[in-house]
Amino acid sequence: MNLPSGRVGPAGGGGRANHTPGSFQMGKSTRAKVVIVGSGPAGYTAAIYGARAMLEPILIQGIQPGGQLTITTDVENYPGFADVIQGPWLMEQMQRQAEHVGTRIVTDHVNKVELGRHPFRLACDSGDVYLADAVIIATGAQARWLELPSEQRFKGYGVSACATCDGFFYRGKDVIVVGGGNTAVEEALFLTNFAAKVTLVHRRDSCRAEKILQDRLFKHPKISVLWNSELDEVTGSENPLKVTAVRLKNTRTGVISERPADGVFIAIGHTPASELFAGQVEMKPSGYIRTAPYSTATSVPGVFAAGDVTDDIYRQAVTAAGQGCMAALEAERFLAARIEQAAESENRAAAEVG
Ligand code: NAP
Repeated sequence: MNLPSGRVGPAGGGGRANHTPGSFQMGKSTRAKVVIVGSGPAGYTAAIYGARAMLEPILIQGIQPGGQLTITTDVENYPGFADVIQGPWLMEQMQRQAEHVGTRIVTDHVNKVELGRHPFRLACDSGDVYLADAVIIATGAQARWLELPSEQRFKGYGVSACATCDGFFYRGKDVIVVGGGNTAVEEALFLTNFAAKVTLVHRRDSCRAEKILQDRLFKHPKISVLWNSELDEVTGSENPLKVTAVRLKNTRTGVISERPADGVFIAIGHTPASELFAGQVEMKPSGYIRTAPYSTATSVPGVFAAGDVTDDIYRQAVTAAGQGCMAALEAERFLAARIEQAAESENRAAAEVG
């Protein structure tokens, strides 16, 4: 069987139209053995292994190239680095490594996939279309919100889900961080670089963050923790739109209290970025893409999933990278088996004619 990579003509669902000024420019159509969607540790690792297996992978980066690690600062649990490294630096290295071994990196965003046909079809915001014999889904996860009307109202005006992105604006201010996991504790610690006072608000009486992080949290002179408390409302001024206080509810007594705050950081976990594949691959009720046990195979043969989009247990950069490796190896086996099957049926047909 022929599994070409490289561009094909209009038959692939597009082809570059002759472009005259003012006319609509159609995207180009590209045929690939493997297309990887997503550019976190899972995506780049799949690309490194895929490229080294001569699969000439194309990796489509998505809206946030590099994924969640690009909005993290210190990384000290990714093996291989004795000194603390920076998340964005780590992702830059992974991208360069993937490129170095032969991955084609595309800066675009997939907005539609068709996995019910073969080759699989992926359409991007640019208008470009990719036709792939195998697809690796590595779209990661995105920050969750409490979905309070006031939180949504002040989003970008004092309410944020990214301390690394917005912490700088809170120099000398009072900030609240909501959550009790690793992200919340890391955000609280990071915010101490700017804020005068950081209050971690958590709905229970203990954190689930790693012990080493909790230790740093409790020892930090700028940080205090409010246990058994949840954010009830964000309040602020209208003109200019800005946060001035929060209303908190004690989860045990139901008592409401108010405290001044200039900024609110929501760090209550992540949801898998799987909407694009809804109805096309099997998912868990929580939205994580379901894979076969000890495998990255999804319910669609030839489609594999790796990293935070499928992993609701470990969710670490290093486990995502491991799953990316598995996905590339499994994609390689899938493609090899297809070639073998095609050769067998060609031989059978030739024997019948002979
Ligand atoms: P997480 O571990 O799922 O923690 C989410 C936190 O938010 C929990 O404390 C949870 O409370 C709280 N929460 C959830 N929904 C809430 C709601 N509606 N109202 C109030 N609080 C709510 O999420 P994460 O901290 O983002 O971490 C995700 C994964 O990434 C984890 O596996 C984590 O280990 C990993 N991670 C690792 C690192 C690192 O290794 N340095 C850094 C960041 C993240 P309960 O505890 O009561 O459920």
